[in-house]
Amino acid sequence: MDYKKLADLLYPNAKDISYYENLYPERNLMEGAEVCRFAPSPTGRVHMGNLFASFVPEIIAHQTNGVFILRIEDTDQVRILPNGIELIYNDLKAYNYKIDESPLDGGAYGPYVQTERKEIYEAYAKYLVSIGRAYPCFCSAEDLDAMRERQQTRKEQIGYYGHYAKCRNLSLEDVEKHLNNGDKFVLRLKSIGDPDKKFVFKDLVKGAIELPQNNIDQVLIKSDGIPPYAFAHVVDDHLMHTTIVTRDDSYISSVPYHLELWDAFGFKKPKFAHILPINIKDGNIIRKISKRKDPWAAISYHHENGIPIEAVKLYFATLMNSNFEGWLLQNPDKSYRDFKFTFDKMSKTGPLFDMEKLTNISKNYLSKLKASEVFELLDEWSKEYDPDFNKIINNHKDYTINVLNIEREQKKPRKDFAFYSEIKNHIWYMFDELFDNVVYDFGVNNIDEVKKIINLYIDKYYDENDDKDTWFDKIKKLSEECGYSSDMKAYKENPDNFKGSVADISNIIRVALTTKNTTPDLYEIMHLLGKERIINRFNNI
Ligand code: GLU
Ligand code: ZN
Repeated sequence: MDYKKLADLLYPNAKDISYYENLYPERNLMEGAEVCRFAPSPTGRVHMGNLFASFVPEIIAHQTNGVFILRIEDTDQVRILPNGIELIYNDLKAYNYKIDESPLDGGAYGPYVQTERKEIYEAYAKYLVSIGRAYPCFCSAEDLDAMRERQQTRKEQIGYYGHYAKCRNLSLEDVEKHLNNGDKFVLRLKSIGDPDKKFVFKDLVKGAIELPQNNIDQVLIKSDGIPPYAFAHVVDDHLMHTTIVTRDDSYISSVPYHLELWDAFGFKKPKFAHILPINIKDGNIIRKISKRKDPWAAISYHHENGIPIEAVKLYFATLMNSNFEGWLLQNPDKSYRDFKFTFDKMSKTGPLFDMEKLTNISKNYLSKLKASEVFELLDEWSKEYDPDFNKIINNHKDYTINVLNIEREQKKPRKDFAFYSEIKNHIWYMFDELFDNVVYDFGVNNIDEVKKIINLYIDKYYDENDDKDTWFDKIKKLSEECGYSSDMKAYKENPDNFKGSVADISNIIRVALTTKNTTPDLYEIMHLLGKERIINRFNNI
C-alpha cells in the first residue's frame, strides 16, 4: 500500500507536520522546570474536585519555575456551555491560580481551545496515515452494532480489532471509491499491540502498574474531522511540550492506548500523574464528592459563606502531600509555595474532604493575619454578600480594625471565626447600628440587682482612663461592696458566704454592654466602646 498516496487522498489540504514542529519549538526553560496543564471541558463551573485537580499542576509547574497552561478540551463533550471557558477561568483566578497560558491570556503554543486546532489535528492525522499507522474506516453504525452484538454473544473482547477491523484491508482503490461516493469515514489507529502481553507503566502517583497492551483500532478522528480526547491530547501535549500530564485517575485504563499513540507518532512521552478524586465520608461509606449531595463542593457556596481562598489552598496542600501539615507546624510563617510538593506523597486511595478540618485550618489562618488584612477580606466579601454590614464597617474603618484586633497579635491569638460570614456574629455588638432590640440574659441575677450594681459601678468606680489592672481592681472593689467575693478561691471554698463572685460582677457588666456571656477581653471591649457608649448602654438596661 502506498501510504503517502492514501494520506494525500484523505487529507489533500493538510500541512506537513514539520510546519507545526517548527512553529512550536522546544521551550526555553531551566533544568527541571515542569510544564503542566489543566485541561477541562467547558461544561460548567469548577467545583472543589477539579479545583483540587488543577491545584496540583499549578503548584508543580510554579515550584519548578515551569509553565501552567489552561487548555480547553471541547471536542468530546455534548454539554458545552457558551461561556464555559470564562466560567472556568474566572473560578481559577478567584483562587489566585497563576495561569501562564490560556485562551484568555494567549501564549506562544496556542490556540488553547481544541476546536480551534482542527487544522493541526488534520496535519498529524495525515502524518499517521502516511507512515501506515492510521487508516480510514467506512463502517456504518449498523455495521458496528452488528459487530458488537456478535462479540457479546461470543463473549469476545468488544471493539474494532483483529479480523473485526475490516477496513484495515481496504485497498487504495476501495478508499477512492468510497470517497468518490461521498462516504463518510472515521480515522482509526492501526494498533500493533497484543493484549496478552503486559508492560509496566510508571505513574508518578501510583508507582509501577502492570497493564496489557492495547489492540483496539480506536477512532482518532471522527467523521466530522474532530478528534476525540485521546488523539487531541497527544498532539496538544506534544506541541505544548507538556512534561507532566496530570489528570483524573479514571484515565488509567486508557493508558495502553494513549501510549501506543505516543509511540506511533514517535514523540517523546511526558510523565503521567493520575490523581485520585477527592472523596467524602458519608456516614460509613466513602464516596466521590457529588455536586448534588455536597453543597459545599460548589465554589459559589464557598464565596457565599466567605470561606477564605487561602484556607482552601492550605487545605489542598494538606490533601496533596501528607507531610505538608507537619512542615507547616515547623514553618508557621512560610507560604505553602515554599514547600516542596512531590507526587509520591499523594494519596493512592483518594484524599478525604473534611469540612471540619477546613474550618480549623481557616480559623488558624485568619487568626494569624493582621487585623487590617482581615478587614480587607471582610470588606471584599461583605460588599457582595452583606452590603449593610459592609457600609457599617466602612463607616468605622479604623474602629472595626481595632475591634478585629482584640486578642489578635499575641502568642495565642483568638480563633473565633473561620469564615467571613461568621465575623458579624462575633462583633456585631460593637456597633450601635446593630445594637438595637437587644435581649439581655443576666441569668440568675434579678434586674433590680443588676441595675443596682451597674449604677454603683458608673457612679463610683468606672473611669475610662484606668489601665487594665486598675480597672480590674475596681471591679473587685465593686464586688466586695455588693457582697460578692473578689477572691475566686475564697468564693469556691465558702460560696454560701457571698451573693456571688467577681466573675458574676464581670459578667453582669459584660452582658449589659454586649448581651453576650462570652466575649473577648472585656477591658479591651470597654476601651473601644468608650465612655459615652458605655453609659448609654448601661442606661439602656
Ligand atoms: N478533558 C479531560 C477531562 O476533563 C482532561 C484530561 C486531561 O487532563 O488530559 O477530564
Ligand atoms: Zn470499518
